[in-house]
Amino acid sequence: MPADLGFHPKEHYGLVSAHPYRLLPFRFMRWQTGEVLVVNDVGEHLFLDASSFDAFVRHRLDSGSDTYLDCKAKHLLADSDSTVPIDLLATKYRTKKSFLEGFTKLHLFVVTLRCDHSCHYCQVSRVTEDRERFDMSRETAERAVNLMFRSPARDLKVEFQGGEPLLNFQLIRYLVNYANECNTQEGRRLEFVIATNLSPLTDEMLVFMREHSIFISTSLDGPEAVHNANRPRRGNDSYEITLRNIGRAREALGHDRVSAIMTTTERSLLHPREIIDEYVRQDFDSIFLRPISPYGFAIRTRKAWEYGAQEFIEFYKAALDHVINLNRNGVAFMEVYAQILLRRMLTPFPTGYMDLQSPAGAGVGVVAYNYDGDVYASDEARMLAEMGDFSFRLGNVHEQTYEEIFGGSVLQALQEASCVEALPGCSECAFVPYCGADPIFHWATQGDPVGNRPTSAFCTKNMALLKHLFGLLHSGDAFIEKLFLQWATSQDLPHRLAS
Ligand code: SF4
Repeated sequence: MPADLGFHPKEHYGLVSAHPYRLLPFRFMRWQTGEVLVVNDVGEHLFLDASSFDAFVRHRLDSGSDTYLDCKAKHLLADSDSTVPIDLLATKYRTKKSFLEGFTKLHLFVVTLRCDHSCHYCQVSRVTEDRERFDMSRETAERAVNLMFRSPARDLKVEFQGGEPLLNFQLIRYLVNYANECNTQEGRRLEFVIATNLSPLTDEMLVFMREHSIFISTSLDGPEAVHNANRPRRGNDSYEITLRNIGRAREALGHDRVSAIMTTTERSLLHPREIIDEYVRQDFDSIFLRPISPYGFAIRTRKAWEYGAQEFIEFYKAALDHVINLNRNGVAFMEVYAQILLRRMLTPFPTGYMDLQSPAGAGVGVVAYNYDGDVYASDEARMLAEMGDFSFRLGNVHEQTYEEIFGGSVLQALQEASCVEALPGCSECAFVPYCGADPIFHWATQGDPVGNRPTSAFCTKNMALLKHLFGLLHSGDAFIEKLFLQWATSQDLPHRLAS
């Protein structure tokens, strides 16, 4: 650089060292303790005190020091011309992104919009039980299954959704048989899940489910008062029916074939401990604490906005605290969102959790076939359509080919807007390797698929929960450290998350 341009030589910036090493790609975050969290591209991380961090970035670390060796072991620096460290990082990066292999694995079939519940937070524009024109036809089901088998994925997961899918059980039966018949040629690993409130469950259905190894995912929002208030139906007996039928299903299918999910409403915020205790009492070994989703019926009734991200965060922390204490007292119990984040923080492995992927899972990990044959990039995209917003409709099984649906401009635009590594507000965040983009959430809440991170409830929640988990891990509590490692490495991912 010519001297007259006024630049200092690089020695001026302290960039020359007696122990030269290269910095490998990393992001960092200053911690409230004065330390700095340093994270590489695959999520390996280290807390450095401020002066060590300064020495690290100025290439002034002593090559014999523990900090130097830690940074080298965590792939934050490399000190030879060898390409091995980069090759190793690349392998880990490929592993982290291996959820992309095989393309769309989770296929949601909305077999009916009919439902016997009228949950306040319902994300679907459910219709009353007798309106059969909102049922999927056999022809639509066959076409959707044919499309599913065009996906190159070796593992295919079929999830039946509604409304209440058991109200159209004859179609579930037909579709399972048809898919299995196709699969004699295809040879894929096929799995079936029914997301159901369980109220229409019959013994005949259970026999079919057992014969075909079908999983059940039901809803349990907490103790009776919370559950029934959140999930009203005629007779106000949703809790009683759900528990009775969880018992029947466990007996017929096996305990582990029945899982439950909960949705956090404003009412739930008051009962973090009681909700956890209800799950323990009902013999579940985990809970997934989910905030309400801002889609479909939930947004129309304004229930989605009953509470803000901060209130959910406080609820979550109180519930997680209770879960940790249960474990301290010998009750093995896990919180699934923490498990997902910890798996990303502590292992090189991906999770199949669609709402937290980069690029987003919409369309490339999951796809939803609506009762009328419309194909959506995700369940949330379908819910938006029920509100009149068809932005994420990929096509229709009766009108478009596989190539048109999965190679079209809608899916491409979604992918472009969802690589968190390159998103404004995210690209320099230390939490990138653990986080994701949810373009449909940002479209629904901010009118833009990229969104604005400083005002995004998605970012507020993930930022706070990741900081909380890192804080706990770094607190020096050996029990928590061991417990979190156990959760992170557990093979027991719920059926929708297994990758
Ligand atoms: S969404 Fe927020 S927490 Fe996640 S990577 Fe982006 S800035 Fe970080």
